[in-house]
Amino acid sequence: MVKPIKTTCPYCGVGCGVLASVDKQGVLSVQGDPDHPANFGRLCSKGSALAETVDHQGRMLHPSIDNKTVDWSTAIHHVAQRLQKIIDEHGRDAVAFYVSGQLLTEDYYVTNKLMKGYIGSANIDTNSRLCMSSPVAAHKRAFGSDTVPCCYEDLERAKLLVLAGSNTAWCHPVLFQRIVTAKKHNPDLTIVVIDPRLTATCDIADLHLPLRPGSDAILFNGLLNYLHQNNETNTFYINQCVDGVDEALASAAASTVSTTVVAEACQLDEALVAEFYRLFARTERVVTVFSQGVNQSSSGTDKVNAIINCHLLTGRIGRPGMGPFSFTGQPNAMGGREVGGLANQLAAHMAIENAQHRDTVKRFWQSPVIAEKEGLKAVDLFAAVGRGEIKALWIMGTNPVVSMPDADSVREALKACEMVVVSDCMQETDTTLLADVLLPAQTWAEKDGMVTNSERRISRQRSSLSAPGDARPDWWIVCQVAQAMGFNDGFSYASAAEIFREHAALSGFENNGQRDFDISVLSTLNDAAYADFQPLQWPLFIDNQSKEITGTPRMFSEGRFFTRNGRAQLIAITPRLPEVSTDETFPLILNTGRVRDQWHTMTRTGKAPHLSEHSPEPFVSIHPSDAARYSVVDGALARVFSRRGEVIVRARVCDTQQTGSVFVPMHWNDQFSSAGRVDALVNPLVDPISGQPEFKQTPVRLSPYQPVWHGFLLSRRKLNMHDIAYWVKATGKDFYRYELAGEQAAQDWSDWSREMLCQSQHDISWVEYLDEATQRYRGVRLVGDRVESCIFIAPTHQLPPRSWLSGLFERQALSEQERASLLSGQPGAGIKDSGAIVCACGNVGLNTITDAIRDQGLNSVEALGDALKAGTNCGSCVPELRVLLKQFQ
Ligand code: SF4
Repeated sequence: MVKPIKTTCPYCGVGCGVLASVDKQGVLSVQGDPDHPANFGRLCSKGSALAETVDHQGRMLHPSIDNKTVDWSTAIHHVAQRLQKIIDEHGRDAVAFYVSGQLLTEDYYVTNKLMKGYIGSANIDTNSRLCMSSPVAAHKRAFGSDTVPCCYEDLERAKLLVLAGSNTAWCHPVLFQRIVTAKKHNPDLTIVVIDPRLTATCDIADLHLPLRPGSDAILFNGLLNYLHQNNETNTFYINQCVDGVDEALASAAASTVSTTVVAEACQLDEALVAEFYRLFARTERVVTVFSQGVNQSSSGTDKVNAIINCHLLTGRIGRPGMGPFSFTGQPNAMGGREVGGLANQLAAHMAIENAQHRDTVKRFWQSPVIAEKEGLKAVDLFAAVGRGEIKALWIMGTNPVVSMPDADSVREALKACEMVVVSDCMQETDTTLLADVLLPAQTWAEKDGMVTNSERRISRQRSSLSAPGDARPDWWIVCQVAQAMGFNDGFSYASAAEIFREHAALSGFENNGQRDFDISVLSTLNDAAYADFQPLQWPLFIDNQSKEITGTPRMFSEGRFFTRNGRAQLIAITPRLPEVSTDETFPLILNTGRVRDQWHTMTRTGKAPHLSEHSPEPFVSIHPSDAARYSVVDGALARVFSRRGEVIVRARVCDTQQTGSVFVPMHWNDQFSSAGRVDALVNPLVDPISGQPEFKQTPVRLSPYQPVWHGFLLSRRKLNMHDIAYWVKATGKDFYRYELAGEQAAQDWSDWSREMLCQSQHDISWVEYLDEATQRYRGVRLVGDRVESCIFIAPTHQLPPRSWLSGLFERQALSEQERASLLSGQPGAGIKDSGAIVCACGNVGLNTITDAIRDQGLNSVEALGDALKAGTNCGSCVPELRVLLKQFQ
């Protein structure tokens, strides 16, 4: 085993350091980097399973045009010529790029440079528009710059943590673990969770405010009003550093006269509101964390400013343990902001609407043109594609047919587009299937470059494995196309390091302290120093004493902001509830979001057996009273309709969901399910300032889905599901799991199964059982002594658990007892079934945990950890362990 390579996790904005080790056989293993300041050795379930995602199965290996493999030169020249022809005939705004927070900073930099400085259009937007463009807009309104003031250490130094619209436990799990540890060490740390749902994050909450969906600005306006009325205004700070106070207070007072009014508007118990306000008022060291629950809204920018207002009014910003803190969704959302990857930005935190900034960037790049006006933001960009105004679209490292709101319209737009180019690491995604040109990109473990996490910390992502086939770095692909378009001078980079040095130099070009983003001290970094770069938080400077390059953990500590007069701005907020409300036809509100063990559209996490067990199927969470009203049964299938489409998902009836709203995860797509692509239902409404879509407020209705038969199938081979009405695929260890349902029963289930599982092998044997009266069928297909596949069919969704049968796929040979138990789907007497996986890291199942609680008398999470190792790695399952412990108290 060679020395581990220090790299960074490619999933969420926490930006955890990873040690990647490759053994002599080329097999990769990972562990958390104990020296990385984001995670100090921790990894969540997704990070821990990275090694399960690096195989080459399903990878895009070669460029192709119209499904025909071509060489790189042909592909590059084809894309360059088509782009140029469309620009010549229809103008530069007839082409667009849609990029991704998965790109590394160097990839992002050259793509933005090509579009804004050489093609001369700002029609480049990123999928980060979907997750954090509202905080960007709000930061700029309040601070004059897109600056995140806090650092992770503030979470540990705070005395009050407010987690608003953030299921931190599942979406930023390592930060959640840091908070859990901080609370253990400091029992005085108070945690308030503001979320309509009772999420896993509430496990550590001292106070949970299950507010009416979309009413956050009312709650924080009310807080501003309360702070003012109770003389908690920091007058000294306001006088020195803040403008706009009177207007903001007047707006807050007009909309939230008292806690009673706030409580009524937010549908909260008044005592909860009063307690939250008291806690905030009396605690100096308070951090307010916010994420998608606040951002993904048609008034997301106002909501973020309502939060920032409370920190500015009290001067609780720029000091340890305090400030408003946006947790970004993606690994390099922050890097994308640095290079100006959004359609309304220029590079290096300069503003596209600022003529001086445009001139600065153009002179620095020595580019032929510069985009004169902001480009189309994601939702408008795809609408323009649909109208035929954009005739060529290059999508990089993202899957908008799954992730955009009104996703079916996006699909139709791509079908109609003259040229769709997709660079991706995977061959078959819902988006690549619509591409005219496919360009194979390198993926995590192969790429080299920089990423920036939620606390402005720049880290290296380093290559540990060689890339398969013709896969290339994104920056290389973009530069090749740029050169083929005739832009040789601006794109003749020899390495990612060279691009990074230019990016760093631009950040300091004619800056003179006017712009927050300045890493110009890295512009002379040589290749060896780039290779060895250690994580640092921008802005960077040379420390006078040590002469070392030094970062800035906390911003605004001197009360100076990046507005024209250097003062922060309170923004007058008039709260707006969601634009679309429910009615008799669509009486429920759909909220979308993440599950614990999946990432985005599953192109990578969907490959990992450990990550597919916790939530193997898309689902709808629904309160018991709503379930009863709409005849939806726990564990059965349900249809969720909006005005735009329909999904069929498994019902989870639970009182963690408020009445009147339902939750469906965002990850499933047509490669993993027949009808789970939930963003097809979502309204394409956006925040008017930031353009961020409202993913959490779509009116829907529910009804039971009543197929004629239900079933599941486990198979060592991937199978074709095209004729099955309902199917979901999950990756197991050495097998695939398919959940099935159909609207027509087979004439003969035995024939049907044989046809489904057909393969010309000689040493096959079948074990079968059919009860014709009840239409129950069970069949197991054996090759030699091993299970090759099994299929279970029944008229209801009540079927044997999958866990024991799944484990049989790891066996080289079945025992007699296992053979005898096959058709029951359950182990025989004396053999344990570990049950559905709860702890993905330790592979610990539900039955193992409940047996240990019951039989060994284990009564704490720590005891379960000692005995079973459950909850001892990433800790994401700890809230579930606590629920199980409670059931046995
Ligand atoms: Fe990766 Fe998990 Fe860390 Fe996020 S919290 S960066 S997903 S290991």
